[in-house]
Amino acid sequence: EDVVNKIAAGEIIVAPMNALKEMMENSIDAGSTAIEILVRDGGLKLLQITDNGHGIEVGASISPVFPADDEQKDDLPILCERHTTSKLKDFDDLMSIATYGFRGEALASISHIAHLRVTTKTAGSSCAWQAHYQDGKLIPPKPGQSPDPKPCAGRPGTQITVEDLFYNIPNRRRAFKSPSEEYTKILDVITRYAVHCEHVAFSIKKHGEAGAGFSVAAAATKIDRIKQAHGAALAKELIEFKTENDKWGFTASGYCSNANYSAKRITILLFINHRSVESSAVKKAVEQAYQLFLPKGGHPFVYLSLEIDPARVDVNVHPTKREVHFLSEDEIIDMVCEEIRERLTQVDT
Ligand code: ADP
Ligand code: MG
Repeated sequence: EDVVNKIAAGEIIVAPMNALKEMMENSIDAGSTAIEILVRDGGLKLLQITDNGHGIEVGASISPVFPADDEQKDDLPILCERHTTSKLKDFDDLMSIATYGFRGEALASISHIAHLRVTTKTAGSSCAWQAHYQDGKLIPPKPGQSPDPKPCAGRPGTQITVEDLFYNIPNRRRAFKSPSEEYTKILDVITRYAVHCEHVAFSIKKHGEAGAGFSVAAAATKIDRIKQAHGAALAKELIEFKTENDKWGFTASGYCSNANYSAKRITILLFINHRSVESSAVKKAVEQAYQLFLPKGGHPFVYLSLEIDPARVDVNVHPTKREVHFLSEDEIIDMVCEEIRERLTQVDT
């Protein structure tokens, strides 16, 4: 059974970037305003994410600090069991959960293919708690010890440490030729969320390298965020846009580069319902929208946040596929690109 779980986990977490994305989305879901990431060897040796979110409950049976009521407060012991999620409350939620990718599988998967340690403190707890996991279950930190979560010092929030990713899938581990390539992919996910999530501070550091990394302050504006992530040359050539339509049930907002800016490659930061996703349909339409405005071989930058009724987003997409589809995709994309074209024409560059 563990072999099956391991294979399934390897399909959800195909690279360090996937683990980081899942963990970062969890930190954001937990209401964090500061997220720190530490990476070693492109995330293959170490991926650590520290947030200041609401934390994870530990369990009335374990912690005497919780009142003995009927409310279940035992998230930490079952954290890494499959389909464990605190995000499914009623059927209405089911739709949005599918949309946002709330599947309760990320931490479970990671526990099957890496060494996983969680330290967490909720506002109501007098101390932090630490737990170690393997193959979906709590394990003792050292042989001979009990697997129960242990009290420890710590600040409110959650720290998740993932070490030796794919340690038990040697072929996969060997397939990663360059840690710096994996680091680049990790940085890409982080900068996407750093642009999207206003009021959240992000920082990423490489283990043992003081200067290296990226950071953005909680107070940074949208344009500051784009500047931090993509440079000043782009930041001064941005146009803000907004459009919505009741018939197709969406609102769209974002920033796009004007006709003064032209890059070698297209950059699209696409968020649907606050999750970073990919859409080749959006990419194609954006390229077309800019055709008349950019020199041959020049490409734009577009950051687009779409909010669509969750019931209209394809819920059948496999978790690893970042490519997303939604109802009336063509119509919605057309309207957004029409808005971008209009703004490009209006702006005097
Ligand atoms: P999902 O996000 O789909 O619920 P995950 O496996 O990603 O599944 O996480 C399982 C659960 O663990 C979450 O529902 C949440 O309750 C808890 N959790 C994970 N990471 C954090 C975090 N950083 N802060 C608070 N709770 C967390
Ligand atoms: Mg999650």
